[in-house]
Amino acid sequence: MKRLSIFGATGSIGQSTLDLIRREKENFQIVALTGAHNIDDLVSDALEFRPDCVVCAIASHFNTLKEHLSGSGIEVLGGPSGLKDAAERPADIALSAIVGAAGLEPGLRAMKAGAHLALANKESMVAAGALMKKTAADKNVNLIPVDSEHSAIFQALIGEDSNSVERVILTASGGAFRNWSLEKIARTTPEQAATHPNWDMGQRITIDSASLFNKSLEVIEAKELFDLNPDQIEVLIHPQSLIHALVGFRDGALMAHIGPPDMRHAIGFALNYPSRKHLPVERLDLTKIGQFDFEKPDFEKYPALRLAFQVLEIGQLSGALYNAAKEIALDAFIGRKIGFLDMAHVVERVLERTFATSGSSVDPLNLENVLMMDQMGRDQANEEILKFSS
Ligand code: NDP
Repeated sequence: MKRLSIFGATGSIGQSTLDLIRREKENFQIVALTGAHNIDDLVSDALEFRPDCVVCAIASHFNTLKEHLSGSGIEVLGGPSGLKDAAERPADIALSAIVGAAGLEPGLRAMKAGAHLALANKESMVAAGALMKKTAADKNVNLIPVDSEHSAIFQALIGEDSNSVERVILTASGGAFRNWSLEKIARTTPEQAATHPNWDMGQRITIDSASLFNKSLEVIEAKELFDLNPDQIEVLIHPQSLIHALVGFRDGALMAHIGPPDMRHAIGFALNYPSRKHLPVERLDLTKIGQFDFEKPDFEKYPALRLAFQVLEIGQLSGALYNAAKEIALDAFIGRKIGFLDMAHVVERVLERTFATSGSSVDPLNLENVLMMDQMGRDQANEEILKFSS
């Protein structure tokens, strides 16, 4: 039986994970389930899966959660200290599926406590890739990507010499606005941006998919996870979302990972690694699919992607700044303070401001530095957003 903690249990990835666990409860003992605002789901999941503890990350919801679970025998924790406590409890594997930079510290703590990390929270690798890898290496635990593209690369690399990798190709659906003009995209609403042609995901990642900020984070995540140089990473628009990534080797071979757009594949792979178990995902009929299409992304339409490659060139902790500024810009777009294309403008300004003056010489292995850079990105992004209303 595997001891499993799920950070971000109430989200899209968390719920897909619980869907898998529901089918084989006898194989998993749940150590911790965490959520933030969605107390109803957290309560019903806690009652169904009987974790040792349940955590509400938003401290103000703690009393409500405690009330609902009183008499259940399940320990209830709240706020950042509750998350810390849960992450430090012994587990065989922890799923990192909190959205945003808030997922960084629980993931690091879980690895330090000896858990293998199934990593959906790409922001951790973007903000603190070096620290995440060093922590995994120091603790001798696996860092298993759950992002479908990175899971695909990880799977294609099993048994391969990483020195023989020439390039990786990440695919992107192109999001909700692939066929829209720039003028139309500039006027889009948060509601329009929060629909995805192929994947069913949380609101924030869906909007990030439309802007390709999500793919941009994945470019940085790929560099960090697989120790790639910027010129080894390519992005292709692949509207069918069936080929998740390709790995090209120095002999010219190109290995593609093909599968349905269902996160339960990558989650199940990570939970069962290094074994493969039966998973309840669709088996593709290639004769029905007929064809796979690819096109190059337009950097003018998707400025986030251009900025991600800039981050790769800058290195150091520019990823922490990029991610933090992106999170604030996304909040501002959802709150209708700025337009869709303004998000990239805000992030670009923050990168320019910081890396024209300072920030390139701090130690990326120091968590305090990561958090400092994250805060700087947030403060500067807020300043840039204020300029839109003045
Ligand atoms: P959701 O928004 O659906 O869920 C996010 C989870 O994080 C919820 O459990 C939420 O709690 C919790 N949460 C939100 N804010 C905080 C906070 N400040 N502190 C602690 N917990 C918090 O996101 P997704 O499941 O879509 O994505 C999760 C992560 O996985 C992201 O990093 C995303 O990029 C990545 N990912 C997602 C994919 C997908 O298909 N959805 C695919 C690949 C990667 P509550 O709901 O209770 O508020």
